[in-house]
Amino acid sequence: MSFELLSEDVVPEHAQDVKQDARDFAAEHIAPNAEEFYRTGDYPRDILEAGMDAGLVAQDISEEYGGRGLDLTQMLAIAEEFFRADAGIALTLQLASFGAELMQEYGSEQQKEEFLRPVAENEQITGLAVSEPDIGSDLAGMHTTAEKDGDEYVLNGEKYWIGNGVEADWVTVYAKTGDTDDRYMNYSLFAVPTDTDGYDAEHIPEKMGMRASKQAHIVFDDCRIPEENLIGSEGAGFMMLTDFFNHGRVVVSGHGLGLAAAAFEEAWDFVHDREGFGRNVSDFQAVQHGLADMRLEFESARALAYRAAEKVEAYDQPGLWAAMAKTKATEVATANAEQGMQFHGGRSNLTDRRIARVYRDVRIPVIYEGANEIQRNLIYRQSAE
Ligand SMILES: Cc1cc2nc3c(=O)[nH]c(=O)nc-3n(C[C@H](O)[C@H](O)[C@H](O)COP(=O)(O)OP(=O)(O)OC[C@H]3O[C@@H](n4cnc5c(N)ncnc54)[C@H](O)[C@@H]3O)c2cc1C
Repeated sequence: MSFELLSEDVVPEHAQDVKQDARDFAAEHIAPNAEEFYRTGDYPRDILEAGMDAGLVAQDISEEYGGRGLDLTQMLAIAEEFFRADAGIALTLQLASFGAELMQEYGSEQQKEEFLRPVAENEQITGLAVSEPDIGSDLAGMHTTAEKDGDEYVLNGEKYWIGNGVEADWVTVYAKTGDTDDRYMNYSLFAVPTDTDGYDAEHIPEKMGMRASKQAHIVFDDCRIPEENLIGSEGAGFMMLTDFFNHGRVVVSGHGLGLAAAAFEEAWDFVHDREGFGRNVSDFQAVQHGLADMRLEFESARALAYRAAEKVEAYDQPGLWAAMAKTKATEVATANAEQGMQFHGGRSNLTDRRIARVYRDVRIPVIYEGANEIQRNLIYRQSAE
């Protein structure tokens, strides 16, 4: 393909350098290893460490606590580059600090020194434990409890799908601390070191997509943590999480953009290389229209994503814009992957093809950080606000 889909022109100037760094890193470390890590399902530890050395992991944490203080637009620019190269490896790199932003925003100075700084300085990795085996979408319906006992909290329950639940040094856990009539005020957040007694995690079974990232099933069995590990105030967990997801969903729109770009590149190259009926497959107008639609949708999603990043940073209806960007970009990724598969004919079924990997991976961002039905609920409700 002779043109660049992830062009700089829609990217604000201050994010262009880090985007270029991410592109160079992705070309050297992520893309060449994508097929192997998909096949083996291994955790890409060396690539994670290379990303840390390159200053591209956990660097949205502020300079005050050892990071680079990258803003949301810069994180979006990194995401689209990484996820174009490979979504599984990219997710591992981006999840190394997942949830740490909550501590940066609401944590005490002591917590930031003890937990946040080692993540920013790439000595530790973390994760965010919200979803549970039998409930994921209803944030105000989770069952894991944290009961106060003297100067400790005692955690009991289960979490599922937790990125780095096995690998992390500590995780931010969302647990029920109250039973008031206001179901949105009953949850709190805690920093939980993974070597605490009563914390037990194992990898969940083999996945279809993003196999180079690792998720865990965590069981808390009378897991005691000091009361100082409460992040922010008791009962404010739901509100803190809602605000955090506004940022996260803009980054997830970058996941969708990267995957949608990968599908377009593969489809474009394939049909321009393939002969049939005495001509090139790309000469058929139906094929050209298919590619045109992929491009159209991609550019719409990308414009929306960068606009949403600005809106969220300016706190201008952040929930609405984040939900719109996430929904659009992740659904363009699924549509482009579907069309890309069709244009590959029988070869779409070859498991080692990039288009087949993209096709499997696109099923995930339409679900995580809130299934797109939940996003549509938010878009409808918040449009009227
Ligand atoms: C690869 C991967 C990584 C993940 N990483 C993490 C992580 O690091 N930390 C973490 O906490 N979680 C993580 N998750 C979990 C993810 O956030 C949840 O899977 C997601 O929120 C959906 O929850 P669920 O799977 O329980 O689906 P459910 O809540 O059971 O929903 C199933 C389906 O029902 C429909 N539905 C549900 N509610 C509604 C509604 N109100 N209106 C309309 N339709 C509805 C939707 O179609 C939805 O997809 C990860 C998931 C995956 C696949």
